[in-house]
Amino acid sequence: MALLKNTKSSKTLNEKQWKEWNKTIFSLFWKIWLLTFFIELLLFLFFRPTPACSKAYYFYLFIATPSGLELLVLVSFELLFTRLFQSHSRRVVSIYTIFLISSFAGITVCVHTSVGMLPAMLLLPMMLTPLYRDHLMTLLQAVLVILLYIANYFYFTPNTPYMLPQTPFSPFVEICIFIGSMIVTCVILEKVNQDIVINEERSRRDSLTHLYNHEAFYEELEYYQKEFEKTHCPFSVIIADIDNFKKVNDTYGHAFGDEVIQKVGQLFLENSKKEGFSARYGGEEFSMLLPHNLPETVAEKIRADFAAFPFQTASGPAHFTLSLGTAIYDRPCPSASAFFEKADNALYQAKRNGKNCVVSYKPS
Ligand code: GH3
Ligand code: MG
Ligand code: MG
Repeated sequence: MALLKNTKSSKTLNEKQWKEWNKTIFSLFWKIWLLTFFIELLLFLFFRPTPACSKAYYFYLFIATPSGLELLVLVSFELLFTRLFQSHSRRVVSIYTIFLISSFAGITVCVHTSVGMLPAMLLLPMMLTPLYRDHLMTLLQAVLVILLYIANYFYFTPNTPYMLPQTPFSPFVEICIFIGSMIVTCVILEKVNQDIVINEERSRRDSLTHLYNHEAFYEELEYYQKEFEKTHCPFSVIIADIDNFKKVNDTYGHAFGDEVIQKVGQLFLENSKKEGFSARYGGEEFSMLLPHNLPETVAEKIRADFAAFPFQTASGPAHFTLSLGTAIYDRPCPSASAFFEKADNALYQAKRNGKNCVVSYKPS
């Protein structure tokens, strides 16, 4: 039977993941803004005016200016984002996102120079950018962060009017920033982990039947083989090929053919739910690994269930059939593919025997 080329999982984000990722970053920044605004407001309530700094001046410096500027960045992002999505390349939108994240972090750091640990916030855009998996963007972001840090250290900190008066609440601000940074880091890492797990699982599945794909099947077969070397417990494989499938496609159309494939997929899934591992091995070829040496029973059940299933067509119910080959791994075999070939030979034999049957490989 035809071998599928190994499918490699994509290293770049697909359109949907990329959009989701941008939205996640964006909602994260809204939360950061709300949190900082709340802290600033709280500090304002407890601030006692001095001759050098009235309540109104304090409000202007520490609430209106930073929160206003940050809000401007976020709102402009909201307004432009959807339009940019539609009319510009991914890289342009990503660079725009980076620019906004950096502006947000830069504004926060430069207007709160009295908060000792705030420059660490510049690391936030640096943490986010590699997730776009675009080297040029990561480089650009690193340059931006370094420039912002230098500007903050040599210009904003020495010249700033934004020296937050020391109050009993100053340590509270630092603690809030520390906890906030930890929460943000956890949210980001959690999201990244989720994406990695989802992507890995997706790259191992076939999209039509949701069974495992050819590559995942071979990985699992090699794992079963290694387990056999340790435990000497036999396992088995079933492979199946739909009979006269070209004719099914020609008669009822490709979309109908896909439904037939899905039905076989469903049967494979049902019969390996308790134990075993099912895959769509090729176009209309399926395979199953079972952790015991009784594959014929399972194969025969799948064959009979499929043959009995009435597919609805314009000309009434139609029945189709499957041929299956099985092999038992009860002695060492040089490679996974050498073992698979045994079941493949049995499948060929089933075709030669007139199809719609199960043939088990017998060592000669
Ligand atoms: P045999 O009984 O000897 O197996 O004959 P067959 O007509 O089934 O021959 P073969 O197994 O070579 O047929 C493979 C066909 O499966 C060819 C291809 O058009 C069809 N096919 C492969 N993948 C898909 C798919 O994803 N959807 C549909 N509808 N058809 C597919
Ligand atoms: Mg085939
Ligand atoms: Mg076929």
